[in-house]
Amino acid sequence: MLVLGNWKMNTSLAEAVRLASDVVRATEGAAAAVGVCPPAVWLEAVAERVRGSAVALGAQNVYPAEAGAFTGELSPAMLTGVGCRYVLVGHSERRAVLGETSAFVARKAAACLGAGLVPVVCVGETLEERDGGHAEAVVGDQLAASLDGVDAPGALVVAYEPVWAIGTGRTASPEQAQAMHAALRARLAERFGGAGRTVPLLYGGSVNAGNAADLFRQPDVDGALVGGASLDAAGFAAIVAAAV
Ligand code: PEP
Repeated sequence: MLVLGNWKMNTSLAEAVRLASDVVRATEGAAAAVGVCPPAVWLEAVAERVRGSAVALGAQNVYPAEAGAFTGELSPAMLTGVGCRYVLVGHSERRAVLGETSAFVARKAAACLGAGLVPVVCVGETLEERDGGHAEAVVGDQLAASLDGVDAPGALVVAYEPVWAIGTGRTASPEQAQAMHAALRARLAERFGGAGRTVPLLYGGSVNAGNAADLFRQPDVDGALVGGASLDAAGFAAIVAAAV
């Protein structure tokens, strides 16, 4: 199991450092692998706090080029240099707010894999798409497009995050999550064979200490990507503790 915290555009430097220290302490000895994804500007400070612990560092974004005229962006080497293991790519907020396409996400995923980073490729349907009965097709196609050009899954992680469940307090039911994860597992196996079958599949969308255990009981749910609830170390640790 893998539990990642996405702090999004939250925390001051002091809060980030305190939260990182608290997460290290609260998740010590956990059975699950744990990571935190702070804002990029706090990566170095958080790296210092998690160094030597079991808590891994993740970034919330990357640019798919080695260097050059890409104002405001960060390269894969910059992220590995600061100690990152994970990188979120294709988060629905970046797709919706910043217009990121699946083709661009695929370039980021490939760049991460090439640099030894673990891309956490996020996919998910809108409420209209779910209500229209197209959720599995939409998410399956989004995944395929977000992995275009990736020939081997390597260290790839996929996060299923229904857009209607992110930051809304509305979680997919364990059955809805399981059904989508099984469909994604099948798609990945079709695409990559046996290696595709072992790609960890995280669920994300209003995961909290109260609903995590039921989600983790599903056979194709391999962990969680946690947004809001990851800003509280005790609550996040309770989610991690449920991941056995
Ligand atoms: C996320 O940002 O990836 C997320 C799942 O957010 P939340 O847990 O707040 O719904």
